[in-house]
Amino acid sequence: MNGYIHSFQSMGAADGPGLRCVVFMQGCPLRCLYCHNPDSWESSLGAVYTAREIVSRALRFKPYFGKTGGVTVSGGEPLLQAEFVCELFKLLHKEEIKTALDTSGAVSSDHIKPLLEHTDLVICDIKFPTQQQYKKYSGGNLDTVLKFLTLVQELDIPLWVRHVIVPGLTDSKDNIRQIAAIAKSFSNLKKIELLPFRKLCLSKYEQMGIEFSLADVPECPPETLKSLNETLDKLLK
Ligand code: SF4
Repeated sequence: MNGYIHSFQSMGAADGPGLRCVVFMQGCPLRCLYCHNPDSWESSLGAVYTAREIVSRALRFKPYFGKTGGVTVSGGEPLLQAEFVCELFKLLHKEEIKTALDTSGAVSSDHIKPLLEHTDLVICDIKFPTQQQYKKYSGGNLDTVLKFLTLVQELDIPLWVRHVIVPGLTDSKDNIRQIAAIAKSFSNLKKIELLPFRKLCLSKYEQMGIEFSLADVPECPPETLKSLNETLDKLLK
């Protein structure tokens, strides 16, 4: 079957352990206020690839993966194309390449469990810690995410949780406490990463003629991130 791909990163160190090829899937059901990839939203766009073509691409970089690296599939939202990503991960496992899924978890479908059975690591960006905020600021459903994370826990797949720090929106200590409480409720949690809000996406929004509602919000200062990471460290002890 075919997959609809937004873009590739040949060798990245930010989306999972070690050096990794990152495949960004096209299409996303959410509309996070702080999204830096609005060009990944529309499902009908994207370049068409077979899973075998992507495996051939990954094999060129296999010597650099070492013991921890591999392929991360991100987005957009990879769970929208779960059947395709499952086929891709199966082929990667046949080549002894490790797989990671970078997702919001905000999708439900019968194809997700088979995909997770071929996933070595789940990286889940928990957008907001309450149902009301999740709906208001991303358009998604937190309950769907929690069900997804429960399935990941049942399958005992290592879990990394991510959360974006947006000044005035998610930068309070209380918000971090709530995110940490959700993350810690899953026994397979390995770490939580806080990511700073950035505005490198402004030109993309301008080119696409879409209003960026956080245009006047400042980027997350390093000292805020440092302070929240200290709070998080205490919560995780
Ligand atoms: S899940 Fe990711 S790609 Fe989708 S809207 Fe949110 S930030 Fe953008």
